[in-house]
Amino acid sequence: MDYYDLHVHSTFSDGDLTVREIVKKSKKKGYRVGIADHLSPYHSLRGDTAVLTYIDAVRECGAYVGCELDLGEEVPCSVAVLKQLDYIIGGLHSINDFYGQNIFFWDELKSIPHKREFVRAMVKTLVQQMEELPLDIIAHPTFIPPFLGLRYDEVWTPGRRRKLIKTAIKHDIAIEITNRWKDPQPQFLVEALSAGCTFSMASDGHRPEYVARLDYPIRVAKKLSIPEERFFIPGAKPKRLDREKGRVRTKD
Ligand SMILES: [Zn+2]
Ligand SMILES: [Zn+2]
Repeated sequence: MDYYDLHVHSTFSDGDLTVREIVKKSKKKGYRVGIADHLSPYHSLRGDTAVLTYIDAVRECGAYVGCELDLGEEVPCSVAVLKQLDYIIGGLHSINDFYGQNIFFWDELKSIPHKREFVRAMVKTLVQQMEELPLDIIAHPTFIPPFLGLRYDEVWTPGRRRKLIKTAIKHDIAIEITNRWKDPQPQFLVEALSAGCTFSMASDGHRPEYVARLDYPIRVAKKLSIPEERFFIPGAKPKRLDREKGRVRTKD
């Protein structure tokens, strides 16, 4: 089976390597590669002109071109430009306006009050945004912010797992298996597999040593015998933006 690393960050957002360097590294490993730089108010890739330049540059290097939208944030370009991308990934990276402040998942908080409310807000935002944004892939779908200090099954109860899986199936959003965060855990993937979900593989590499690393996704896909045809391939079927014409709302 051909392996696709569809979520890598380049110097167009917060990655260390240029697109050309990423393509070279992936080729060496024998992987097909897609660049999915951050398209969010927090990164420099914003506005139609900048995004179109990015799309051209990535295509010229022979990689697929996607993006990673920040769930819960403004989409900083037009739908017409989003349509030019090969696929759209969404990742939850923060909870906004949580008791008056924005809390980023990688903040080094010593403690957080109201953990249960935080988890509820997290799952709610995730599911709501999967409904609303034109996503083809959901990145690191069950990632738990380290500062919560909670176990996987404390956060991802059977009911919450079902909800996420149901939403992914409803909109045919591929569940990303992410090397960097070893996410989702096998128990979730077993359920997603038997429910009929599709999947994608990702390094989510920013630093050179993490780019083109698919150890966890490949290991888990083999262990669970996920069939090749359950993996998302860019261009193999219409994108969600083309499938749900007129129904998808973005914030522009
Ligand atoms: Zn992400
Ligand atoms: Zn990412």
